[in-house]
Amino acid sequence: MSFSDVLKKYENFDFDNFFKNVSEEDAGSSLDKNKLSETDLLNLLSPAAESKLEKMAKRSHDMTVQYFGRTVSLYIPLYISNYCSNGCIYCGFCASNKISRKMLTLDEIEKEAEILKQTGIKHVLVLTGEAENITSFDYIRSTLILLAKSFPSISIEVFPMSVEQYSELKAIGVDGLTVYQEVYDRDIYAKVHPYGRKRDYEWRLECPERGAKAGFRLVNIGALYGLADVRKEAFINALHAKYLDDKYPDTEIAVSFPRINSSEGGYIPSHRLSDKTFVQFLTAFRLFLPRVGINVSTRENAEFRDNILTLGITRMSAGSNTAVGGYSDDSINNVPQFDISDSRNVTETIEMLKRSGYQPILKDWELIK
Ligand code: SF4
Repeated sequence: MSFSDVLKKYENFDFDNFFKNVSEEDAGSSLDKNKLSETDLLNLLSPAAESKLEKMAKRSHDMTVQYFGRTVSLYIPLYISNYCSNGCIYCGFCASNKISRKMLTLDEIEKEAEILKQTGIKHVLVLTGEAENITSFDYIRSTLILLAKSFPSISIEVFPMSVEQYSELKAIGVDGLTVYQEVYDRDIYAKVHPYGRKRDYEWRLECPERGAKAGFRLVNIGALYGLADVRKEAFINALHAKYLDDKYPDTEIAVSFPRINSSEGGYIPSHRLSDKTFVQFLTAFRLFLPRVGINVSTRENAEFRDNILTLGITRMSAGSNTAVGGYSDDSINNVPQFDISDSRNVTETIEMLKRSGYQPILKDWELIK
């Protein structure tokens, strides 16, 4: 059974009608349970559960401390190319956007790595646009061999690959995969991905599972909020995380809640995820998925990141620069994929965590070869 089979169960489900009919009592009784069913999750994602937000936040905080302690794992992103062959209409790197394109050489990547090493963070997330013909598997592989000399933990957010390719990268030292479905609604998926390899919904949907099959330690998934009905998307994303968490107990599954930010593409989100609903989703996910990591990036502003820290967050990016080559050359002004809202550097982020009573984790993994 694949996650596509799980999705079939909800193909004709009337989400609007369900959410409209959830009462505050329904949400309250779901909140009082120790183990949540899919119906309980729907109740907690409904508008009616907004009245229970304080209690959801308290339970989510307690549960996160129970499972993760007061720790937050920090990672730093490294953009190595903004070439892309896809036409995602919401993204600044979209192939049809006339932006200046850059792909770092191995020497340039080494320079970026030198700077990132000085931050003390040992978890790096390597990102590219998805242009398999330019940032090829061999290029990515060479980059990762280079980075593995400096970083014991490397995650990738690049074009979706096969199990065999992921296994090869794992042998080099890659331990994590980030891949967002972007939008689970199939019709909207087809509309916002008009061309390119990314049009293949199933290939992308099954990508996190291919990473888990290859044995990655961490697989991070998410929906990009702004493209479709946010409550429905959150529900399917939580089911996806549960499916992976149940089936691959040796892999840490994590979720992110990226919201569409301004980009060169100038896309105006058709569905808005408010701060309040973001918090509702974060806490509902924690109650439904106690062991799942929850990641918040620097897309969110500093004040909001500080405010949600204690509610269930286990992983954060820090000191991000989304320009390709931007760490070693601050004159570089190529268009970022999205704008950074939290511009604090790594030291400031670490200080913030300590002040809040949290332990920043800079390294929690080393492969013994
Ligand atoms: S979202 Fe990813 S695949 Fe789509 S245009 Fe942007 S970089 Fe390319």
